[in-house]
Amino acid sequence: MKYFAVIGDPVSHSISPILHNMAIFELGLDAVYTRYHLKKSSEIINAFISLGLSGANVTIPHKEFALALCDEASSMAKNIGSANTLVFKNNKIYAYNTDGLGFLKSISDFSEIKSALVIGAGGTAKAIAYILKQNFIDVEILNRSLDRLEGFKQAYECYTWNDFLPKNYDLVINTTSASLRDDLLPAPIEILTPIISSSRYAFDVIYGKTTPFLHLAIQNNLVCKDGLDMLLHQAVLAFNLFFDNDLDEYEIQKAMQKALRLL
Ligand code: NDP
Repeated sequence: MKYFAVIGDPVSHSISPILHNMAIFELGLDAVYTRYHLKKSSEIINAFISLGLSGANVTIPHKEFALALCDEASSMAKNIGSANTLVFKNNKIYAYNTDGLGFLKSISDFSEIKSALVIGAGGTAKAIAYILKQNFIDVEILNRSLDRLEGFKQAYECYTWNDFLPKNYDLVINTTSASLRDDLLPAPIEILTPIISSSRYAFDVIYGKTTPFLHLAIQNNLVCKDGLDMLLHQAVLAFNLFFDNDLDEYEIQKAMQKALRLL
């Protein structure tokens, strides 16, 4: 039997075990998927090995460490600068990133997106900014603090709350963990209101609740989406990586959608 887990802090909110276990069951595989609460990012590889995992999903706040500490990484993970999927193969730990492609699939019904503001500058922001740029969309980054913007400055226009000048964006994405454990907006309301009132689409990577950010976007009549579709699509891609990419993506997606309907 193969063992898989989602590793994060916090991790109790994650529905990844439900999605992956349903796919394991529906596809008749000999495996089980659990969750593991890890506080210290530097322990990510030790935890992976000591749990005897064949693969893992990595979530907040460990994604950058997962990339830094793995044995080999895909070019997508390297370009993004973080990893959300680890796979044990040939005695090595390989790191991948499926967040970017998962996000792209989840906005496939948004039309004519030419510009986007990414709020936040963590691992998820890196994946989303990278994939949007790859798809010829102008991306700007807004983050609470300056430090994390360092990794973005070469490729994107970057702002903190102190120097931000609002523009019109087709799409505004909240990638911060604000409101994951509280009811905070990802930036002060005076900054968000002009941005949101001139946008067409709003996306929040958090799922399972209408965050204050999405609530503001709904009030302004934007087309809104939470992070559930992104979670689904990144999970389908990760699951296939766990099994050497030998499985039918459509079958995995069908199983995971069934799990979501049962929630
Ligand atoms: P990181 O820890 O790497 O980054 C967190 C970011 O959030 C930083 O930019 C941080 O800003 C910002 N932030 C945290 N708290 C606040 C706050 N109160 N106000 C404003 N900004 C804040 O996290 P990840 O990028 O790994 O994850 C971010 C979120 O994305 C999580 O909620 C996670 O669950 C979700 N997620 C969802 C996925 C999906 O499939 N739907 C996939 C991946 C992630 P600063 O630099 O100032 O600290």
